[in-house]
Amino acid sequence: MKDNNCIFCKIAAGEIPSKTIYEDDKFRVIMDLGAASEGHALILPKDHYANLMELDEETASSVLPLAGKISRAMMKSLDCDGLNLVQNNGEEAGQTVMHFHLHMIPRYKGGNEVIEWKPGSPSAEELEETAAKIREAL
Ligand code: 5GP
Ligand code: ZN
Repeated sequence: MKDNNCIFCKIAAGEIPSKTIYEDDKFRVIMDLGAASEGHALILPKDHYANLMELDEETASSVLPLAGKISRAMMKSLDCDGLNLVQNNGEEAGQTVMHFHLHMIPRYKGGNEVIEWKPGSPSAEELEETAAKIREAL
């Protein structure tokens, strides 16, 4: 299903041009216009899912094998030293386009920081309390 108001639906369908690395019946992989590093790409499903929570299982199960294939091609072709996969869900998490996408960000020695967080120091009780909340919601 497409969403007529969604720019990534239009890009994935080829209605808006993009620098495409790979395409099949379910996905298009494009270069990110605001690339954080050389080679920064986005895996877009052709159907519209706002985020990971909405993604159907069949599509979800194809995303990582595709990311693996693209990663191997990036490592071979770009001479990068590593690679981050980033997937934002919700505005507070930095999602700006509400169509599921997986960022593939090649990393280079001495390159910019891409993902940073300050490690916290929760107690064992706090960890257990939080783990229990999530377990109960499964
Ligand atoms: P988010 O912040 O939602 O996780 O990531 C959205 C990404 O899409 C950003 O990295 C941004 O640079 C990229 N982006 C936004 N609009 C376009 C577009 O029209 N074409 C391409 N190729 N990338 C886009
Ligand atoms: Zn969409």
